[in-house]
Amino acid sequence: MLRVGLTGGIGSGKSTVGRTLADLGAVVVDADAVAREVVEPGMPALSAIRERFGEAVLGKDGALDRPALGRVVFTDPGALADLEAITHPAIWRRTADLLAEAPDDAILVHDMPLVVEKDMGADYHLVVVVGADADERRDRLVRDRGMDAEDAQARIDAQADDEARRAAADIWLDNNGTPAQLDVEVRRLWAERLEPFNENLLHGIRARRPDALTLSEPDETWPVQAARLVARIERVLGERAVTVEHIGSTSVPGLPAKDVIDLQVGVAALADADGAGFVDALARSGFPRIDGVTSDNSKDGSEWPKRLHGSADPGRVAHVHVREVGTPGYAWPQKFRDWLRADEAARDEYASLKMDLLAQGLTTTGYAEAKEPWFDSVHERVMAHSASSAHSPG
Ligand code: ADP
Repeated sequence: MLRVGLTGGIGSGKSTVGRTLADLGAVVVDADAVAREVVEPGMPALSAIRERFGEAVLGKDGALDRPALGRVVFTDPGALADLEAITHPAIWRRTADLLAEAPDDAILVHDMPLVVEKDMGADYHLVVVVGADADERRDRLVRDRGMDAEDAQARIDAQADDEARRAAADIWLDNNGTPAQLDVEVRRLWAERLEPFNENLLHGIRARRPDALTLSEPDETWPVQAARLVARIERVLGERAVTVEHIGSTSVPGLPAKDVIDLQVGVAALADADGAGFVDALARSGFPRIDGVTSDNSKDGSEWPKRLHGSADPGRVAHVHVREVGTPGYAWPQKFRDWLRADEAARDEYASLKMDLLAQGLTTTGYAEAKEPWFDSVHERVMAHSASSAHSPG
């Protein structure tokens, strides 16, 4: 089951996207609807609210008077905390029930305004953010929802800004254009990413990728993208992962690279990575194991064992290298990365090697092999840098 968090600022078009995804076959859980449902008359949460806040927050019909309750909690953080302590558990229980009802092969979309504000991105395989300029959003809220302009602006200002949303977005749907343009984008997203990602998850396989080698210019979003994957892996592995970090060329600012996010998971013992729980947890979260890769090219003659997982997401190639903490094979990618980050000449040397190999028209496999002699040749410099930086303050 693919879990997608759908979010965006108020008036961005999030509900519009949710409706299209529902038409296409997604199971959409609307967080706002759930939040309203759990405080309907007869629900335990409404009784608890009445006990805490009194009859004044109920209308004559016994239903919650939202504006009245809003006035109480708006200025009183303690009251807000009390309200959330009542509603949040009810909301999460109801959400969990709705998720449990969805079939295993469903694409589940959680339409949730606060994914960014509540830092929930790691709960999902993908976060889709619908974005539109604040002025445009305000105008739509005034035009379509009858809000007055000041109220609309105040709501917009109270939410996360676009910078925070961009950092959380695996997919950014720009909705400054027409509804028809948005519709085309959503259908493309469904067909090209969500459906194949879900298929891959169901079968525990990684996304197909071209074998032809291409190098990308340095992309400053690579570390941000990696941070999202790191958070997801930390979340699913919990204490089974001692460390999870971004390694490889995309972790070195300014270096051209294959558009692949390499991550390293450090485990206390490599045997941990062979347990069914570990392998399944990673596979279910979108990182299926690649069988047959069990070691690295050693740089010191000793065996450098590892396990490798790929990515089921057709929109994001990633490799997850699982290595035992404290072994040379674990330390090497960290040292190599830190050396390249610190030494501009080394970075240039590596970049020009990459360009030379690219010009030879190699496949990705051929390219990986062709880089090995250079890695061997810089081994001593990497180790020297690591030793000196270990002794220098800071
Ligand atoms: P949200 O759920 O993010 O608050 P909605 O999907 O309800 O936003 O969209 C806000 C309003 O703007 C709705 O009335 C919707 O019909 C309208 N809308 C959405 N996308 C567009 C668009 N591209 N152009 C014009 N109006 C739009």
